This record gives sequence, structure tokens and C-alpha cells, in this order.
Amino acid sequence: MILDWDVHHGNGTMNTFANSPEVLFCSLHQSPLYPGSGKVNEIGIGAGSGYSLNVPLPSGCGDAIYLQVMLDAVLPLGLAYKPELILVSAGFDAHERDPVGGMNLTGAGFYHMTRIMTTLALETGAYGPVFVLEGGYDLTGLSEGVRACLLGVADGPDLPPRPEPDAATRATLSSAAKLLRPYWGESVFRSLG
Ligand SMILES: [Zn+2]
Repeated sequence: MILDWDVHHGNGTMNTFANSPEVLFCSLHQSPLYPGSGKVNEIGIGAGSGYSLNVPLPSGCGDAIYLQVMLDAVLPLGLAYKPELILVSAGFDAHERDPVGGMNLTGAGFYHMTRIMTTLALETGAYGPVFVLEGGYDLTGLSEGVRACLLGVADGPDLPPRPEPDAATRATLSSAAKLLRPYWGESVFRSLG
């Protein structure tokens, strides 16, 4: 399983595994933004159908919305998939200080996302999460994000309190769930109704 939380869509990774059910690809990204791909309806191709989750988010999203996506979509899908290895395309250009991205993630957001992925690894017996550094164009924001991840790994599995759901994000996730449920069953995205 590969989670890409870099502010840009993980188009290269998605395209590499789009045809394969052997890698579950999940991307949270700002939209519109370069490269422009990563619409909700990009769920994989052929035998890989159902194995891509794309969550485009408008600029200005912060910790609460990212955690909503993680708890309502990425975590339940990961639990259903049962990965053997979890990789994170760990860009930090969604940090609030970043001059390229327009998002408002803070160190706390990266910390909790890390602990959610660590929980997923524990629950599924997967190796990881293994972080691969990607974008991040403000050195203070980059270092804060990396430090938050390291602290999250050190502190271990834990789920943050569920944030007050944002309606627009819920609508995006519900669209994704509708497209993915045929491949995963009706009960996978239970919290989305
Ligand atoms: Zn990026």
C-alpha cells in the first residue's frame, strides 16, 4: 500500500500501479494544482480497478480535513486491503508555511496521520510505515513535518479524536466510496453512511 500525502497528486506512482491489484494507491492532494490528475473517478484500470483512491481537496484544507479523510477513507480501505508493506510518499508541501502548496497542515496533522498509518500497520501486521521524503519547499515547515513524523512513529499506534466532519469533504469521500464499494463491499466505508 502506498499513501501519498504530498500536496501534488501522485500521478507517477498511480500510473505505475494503475493496472495492478497488488498495490493499493491512495493520494490526498490539492486540486486544482499541478499535474491536474487525481480525480475521484480515477480508481484504477482493468485488474487494478478499485485499487486507487484519489481524494482531491481544495486549497486551504488543514489538519481536521486531512484527518477526516484518513479516518473515514484511507484507514478503512487499508484495513480491508490488509497490506503487507506500507509506504508513505511523504511530501511536506501541504504544510501551512509551504510557498508552493496552499494547504494548512501543521506538525500536529502530520503527527496524527503518521500514528494512523502506524495503527494500520499494527492492525494488519504490515511492515512499516516506511516514509520516502518528497516535496517541501519551506525549510522550517519541512523540518517540522519530518520531526512530527518521527515523533509519531516513536509514539506508536493511536487514533486521534474524530474531527467535526466537513460537509464538502464528506461529499468527496462519499463519491469515492460509491465508486469503490463494488470492489470492497458495502461495509468498507461505514462512517460515510
Ligand atoms: Zn509536491
